[in-house]
Amino acid sequence: MTVRTRIAPSPTGDPHVGTAYIALFNLAFARQHDGQFILRIEDTDQTRSTPESEQAILDSMRWLGLEWDEGPDVGGPHGPYRQSERKDCYKDYAMKLVEEGKAFLCYRTAEELNDLRNARRAAGKHTALKQSDLELPGEEVESRMAAGAPHVVRMKVPEEGSCVIDDMLRGPIEMDWAQVDCQILLKSDGMPTYHLANVVDDHLMEITHVIRGEEWISSAPKHRLLYEYFGWDMPKLCHMPLLRNPDKSKLSKRKNPTGIIYYQRMGYLPEALLNYLARMGWSMPDESEKFTREQMFENFDIHRVSLGGPIFDLEKLSWLNGLWIREELDPQAFSEKFKQWALNEEYLLPIIPLIQQRVEKFSDVVPLAGFFMSGDLDLDAQAFEHKSLETEQIRKILQYALWQLESERHWEKDRLFQGLSGLSKAMEIKIRDFLFPLFVAISGTASSVSVIESMALLGPDMSRARVRSALNLLGSPSKKEGKRWDKEFASLQRAATAE
Ligand code: GLU
Repeated sequence: MTVRTRIAPSPTGDPHVGTAYIALFNLAFARQHDGQFILRIEDTDQTRSTPESEQAILDSMRWLGLEWDEGPDVGGPHGPYRQSERKDCYKDYAMKLVEEGKAFLCYRTAEELNDLRNARRAAGKHTALKQSDLELPGEEVESRMAAGAPHVVRMKVPEEGSCVIDDMLRGPIEMDWAQVDCQILLKSDGMPTYHLANVVDDHLMEITHVIRGEEWISSAPKHRLLYEYFGWDMPKLCHMPLLRNPDKSKLSKRKNPTGIIYYQRMGYLPEALLNYLARMGWSMPDESEKFTREQMFENFDIHRVSLGGPIFDLEKLSWLNGLWIREELDPQAFSEKFKQWALNEEYLLPIIPLIQQRVEKFSDVVPLAGFFMSGDLDLDAQAFEHKSLETEQIRKILQYALWQLESERHWEKDRLFQGLSGLSKAMEIKIRDFLFPLFVAISGTASSVSVIESMALLGPDMSRARVRSALNLLGSPSKKEGKRWDKEFASLQRAATAE
């Protein structure tokens, strides 16, 4: 058997370090067994998937050196590797299960589903809906069908008993069927859900080992049942421990930069970031901290993954990156890498129009644009003093702007402006004043180039990290204050979107 592993990201946002971490372990496992590693794009959620996000995922995986043997851009014998291009096949599989009585058409409306769940809750039962809850009398189905009412295809699941999943790291995991609902396989728009498309594709692409994050454990019973229904062998499952913030919570952009692009912009070496991701829950036999990708692959053993939640610690990453910079780069290589990082045209060209009009000589460039090549800015509280805004207001602006920036799904200058100017109106603060603390947080001074355009170029994580650190400097809200602000922010947002 040839080992085949895969990474199956959904292109719905900025490429996440968690995706790179899972990709690395899939690649290591495949390479260790002389197998293949596949990249598949799971873009069945058409409202949230974007081509820009897909491109960013491919670019950042390549930057890290996580190369794939088959994928949407390199092709391969099991293509297409983008689910939106495979969508016709899923329907046939779903209908096959309907014909065999393993799935059914469900005409229940959203309202009815809600009532059914409430009724179960009131009866003290788990809210997972079963076929017995969902079934409608035959004539009702017929009349809804005749009226062309929207419907979905759901799989049947046992009402009781338990299901045992074998996990390569955890051994057998037992889960109650009572908690598993009759999963939708095909949505009313004819698109498959993650569960159907994922199982069908893993089978058709001959995936032998599914190595993914532990958040998918609860989906495993449905997947196992689907494999059984189709009569296919199930790949071996391995659920990796999730990356965590230093406070042990799940790594999230609210607390930590999570985008790969941030780490690139910060000037980490891809080799060092990969080395650090490898150290997340895994160790070399000799416990060495610094090692290359190849050394990892030579020594790889998935059973050395420890299940304690690995902490993604920026200080430790920086320390390791420092080792790489000092030990692996001679002055020539340092100079090359630095030029590639700071002075590559892709990054530099969009900055030029922002600064050119304000520059008289090249020696003006670094003082004006140095913040594009910095990480955290070393600011002091005085920089935020303003003639008409109190510190209290400035803290609020920073916090609200941060929340606004955290909710932004399309990081692009017009959207950023729209969101922030809506907020400033709702707060009844002149946009010029509102943007003042952001100018300082992002560029270090109030007299810099457009802060909105700067944020668009710096990217979401870097921009948010700077606003967050400005807020920390001036004092982030206490628990009580935070709750009050949270409420106020929600109502301001409602006001801003109602306009
Ligand atoms: N599309 C899923 C994700 O976004 C894939 C999960 C899996 O590996 O099965 O993570």
